[in-house]
Amino acid sequence: MAKKILIVGSGIIGASLAYHLAAKGAEVTVIEAKTKAGGVATPNTWGWINASWGNPEPYAKLRMRSMDMWRSLGSVKNLTVNWCGGLMWDTSPENLKAYVTTHSAWGYRPQLVDKAEVNRLEPNLLFPPELAVHVAEEGVIEPEAAVSGFLNDALAAGAVFKNAARLQRLIRDDARITGVIVEDQVINADEVVVAAGVESVGLLQSVGLALPLKESAAIVVYTQPMPSILNGMVIPPDMELRQCPDGRLLAATNFNEGHDKGAIAEDVLKNIRKLLRLNQVLKLDEVRMGYRPMPSDGFPLIGRMNNIDGLYVAVTHSGITLAPAIGAFGAAEILDGLRHELLAHYQPNRLITQ
Ligand SMILES: Cc1cc2nc3c(=O)[nH]c(=O)nc-3n(C[C@H](O)[C@H](O)[C@H](O)COP(=O)(O)OP(=O)(O)OC[C@H]3O[C@@H](n4cnc5c(N)ncnc54)[C@H](O)[C@@H]3O)c2cc1C
Repeated sequence: MAKKILIVGSGIIGASLAYHLAAKGAEVTVIEAKTKAGGVATPNTWGWINASWGNPEPYAKLRMRSMDMWRSLGSVKNLTVNWCGGLMWDTSPENLKAYVTTHSAWGYRPQLVDKAEVNRLEPNLLFPPELAVHVAEEGVIEPEAAVSGFLNDALAAGAVFKNAARLQRLIRDDARITGVIVEDQVINADEVVVAAGVESVGLLQSVGLALPLKESAAIVVYTQPMPSILNGMVIPPDMELRQCPDGRLLAATNFNEGHDKGAIAEDVLKNIRKLLRLNQVLKLDEVRMGYRPMPSDGFPLIGRMNNIDGLYVAVTHSGITLAPAIGAFGAAEILDGLRHELLAHYQPNRLITQ
């Protein structure tokens, strides 16, 4: 008999899990509080698929594997990854060199590039750095399209999507999660997958589990569209910048609580003006706040809890990069009991307490 799985959340993580679980024959229902699929963190993301600087080897390897998996998802409708490459110089020359040394040994392909090469890659930079790292195999997705690609394929494979349905709590019967309560109705399941982003905290709390998340607010700034000015992603100090398919520039930067959102957006525009050779007046289009679902040690929480059956947790930052790996490895673990070795460091039990 098909296993009955309830997935809470239709951001990129819930959508990828739905796609992979439905493809393997599970009876999948996705429950989403909002009227539309797509997530809360997911639509406010910058969309970068990478295994970039600053991560330890096991995490970089999980990310690299997921990058490869993005490449094999070509059959999912409307799911286009733009493999435009990333150019970064947001750290010291020593760190850039260390990045290339460490990550090359792990199988990633970052290249140190000098000013002339930076100029060739991005001719519209006003002041190209003397040294940068370019990773040609990094890509970017437009998150709404990716979510709808995954979900539409899941629906075609028999999954059910319940929108505007806020889960009130999980149901725990001693050492087993047996289902959920949505709008005062009980829905039973063989397994409940919590992929509710930052709201996973409250859901797990409803069955006595404490999930520690780090505050991690960020702001994304869209400019009005302009003719093509960037070839790929650029990561100078203090922001990440790319051009969307509709011509808008999209910048992401950190946000500290208490700061003024409008003032930060103005600073971002000033930084873009200093960075790029613009042929028209740069105008603000939209500013959005986003909260990264960041477990307190910064690494993903993916898997089952020890001593509790029927519960699978999938909460992570870098969900854009990791969605294919979490979807495929999660489906294999939930349906076949196979835990992938690349998930070895990311058991929920390391942080979630009872
Ligand atoms: C500004 C910013 C930039 C980022 N840049 C990158 C990047 O460049 N690369 C990268 O890899 N990652 C990036 N991230 C991180 C990435 O966007 C997230 O890790 C990812 O979107 C998380 O997806 P999710 O599906 O877990 O959560 P979400 O997108 O938040 O989805 C969770 C869903 O669960 C639903 N939900 C919650 N509670 C309930 C309930 N009780 N009942 C029913 N439904 C519920 C919500 O409505 C929501 O739809 C960025 C994040 C931000 C904020």
